Amino acid sequence: MRKIFVFLIAVFFCVPARALSVINDTETESVLRKIIMPVALAADIPENRLKIHIVNDDDFNAFVSGGEDVFIYTGLLTRIKNTNALQAVVAHELGHMIGGHMAQMSARMEAELKRTLIIQALGIGLMVAGGNPSLGAGVLAGAGGVAQQSLLSFSRDEERVADEFAVDLMVDANINPTGLITVFEQMQNITGAAEAKTNKNRSNHPLTVERIKNAREKIAQIKRNRKYDAFDDKEYELVRAKLIGYLYNERQILDKYPYRATDDAAIYARAIGNMRGGALTAARDATQNLIQRNKKNPYYYELLGDIEYQMGHYDDAVAAYEHALKLNKKAPQIQTALALVLAERGKPGDNAQAIELCKTSLLATPAPLTYWVLAKLYNDGREYWALAEFYNLNGDTKKARTFAKRAQQKLDKDSPEYIKSGDILEK
Ligand SMILES: [Zn+2]
Repeated sequence: MRKIFVFLIAVFFCVPARALSVINDTETESVLRKIIMPVALAADIPENRLKIHIVNDDDFNAFVSGGEDVFIYTGLLTRIKNTNALQAVVAHELGHMIGGHMAQMSARMEAELKRTLIIQALGIGLMVAGGNPSLGAGVLAGAGGVAQQSLLSFSRDEERVADEFAVDLMVDANINPTGLITVFEQMQNITGAAEAKTNKNRSNHPLTVERIKNAREKIAQIKRNRKYDAFDDKEYELVRAKLIGYLYNERQILDKYPYRATDDAAIYARAIGNMRGGALTAARDATQNLIQRNKKNPYYYELLGDIEYQMGHYDDAVAAYEHALKLNKKAPQIQTALALVLAERGKPGDNAQAIELCKTSLLATPAPLTYWVLAKLYNDGREYWALAEFYNLNGDTKKARTFAKRAQQKLDKDSPEYIKSGDILEK
C-alpha cells in the first residue's frame, strides 16, 4: 500500500482532482488473495509482492499496475458470476503485463494519474460506523469513472494477446480457463448495448463475440478431460454480500437478497443494510444468527462489534472485536476498529492498548483512518503528526503541512514523529 500512496501523493502536488477511492477491508482482501494467488504465482508474482486494491467504483473493471498491484472495482466484485470468472479477469490483466503492454500503459497512466487521481483508503465498516461523519462521505462519493478511457485503452491486438496469456496462466495455475468465457458472456450483457452503438473501428476492445470465439479456439487445444482445481464460491459470496450491504441502498439490497433468501450471504447483506439504516436490533439479531451458524468466522464478530459500537455498547463492542482478533490475528481493520472503541470508552489502560493496536495495524496497512484514531489517542504533540499523516494520505497537502509544522514545534528533534513530520514537509 505504502508505495502506491507515496507515488500518488507525489502526483497529487500537480493537481487537486477527483478521487479514486480504495476500500480497506481485511475480509475482502484475504478472500480475494486466496482466489487470485494461484494466477499471480503462475505469472511469477511472489506471494509477498502481490497487492490487492479494492476500488470503490461501480464500473465492471479491473487493472494491474506496476506488475504486482491488482486493482479490482467493486462494480466487478458485486456482479461477477463466480470465483472462476474473477480469476479469469485477473489472468487477463496479468496477461497485459506479461505481453509487455504495461510499458506504454504506465506512461499513459502516469499522465492520467497526474490529471485525475488521488487514492483514499478507509475501512469499509468504519466508514459507516466511524466517529467522524466526514470520513464516510468522502468514500461513498466514489470515483465516478476516473480515467476509464486512458487506463484501459489497450489496442485490439493487445487485448487478444492478453486473452491468450490469460488461458495459459489459468491452465498453469490448474484453474479452469472457461472462466474467461463466463466473463465475456457477462461483458456481453453489461456492455452489449453500449458496444452496439460504438463504431467498430474506433473501439479499443475487440468485439466480445470475437474474443469469445478466439478464447474457445484456444481452450479447444487443451487436452480433453483435463482436471482442474475446484474453488468453493462460498467465501466469495460472503464478500459480495458484504460489499452490496455496504454500498447499495436498502431497496437494491433487498432486490438482490430478498427476505425469502436465508443463506448466510443473504443474512449478512441484510444485517449490514439494517445497520446502515439504523435498524440496529434487527442487525444484531441477524449477526447473532450468523455467529450461531459459524462460530469460527472472525468477520461476523467484526460486524457484531460495529453494531454494538453504534448501539453505544462499548464493552460488548470491545468483546466482539477482541473475539474477532482471536480468530484472525492479522486483521488491521479490526485492530483499528477496536482502537477507536477503546479510545472512546476511556477505561484505565484503554488508551495504551489502543495505541499499540494502531501501531500494529499501521505496520500492515497505512490507512488514513488508523492515523485519525491515533490522533485521538495522543496528547503530547504526536497527535499533530498523526493528523499530518492522515491528511497526507487523503491528499490534503495543505492541512498535512500545517499539522506537520505544528508537530515539529511540539516534539523533540530526535523523536521518530518529528522526523516523519519532516518527511511530509519535504514532499
Ligand atoms: Zn484488456
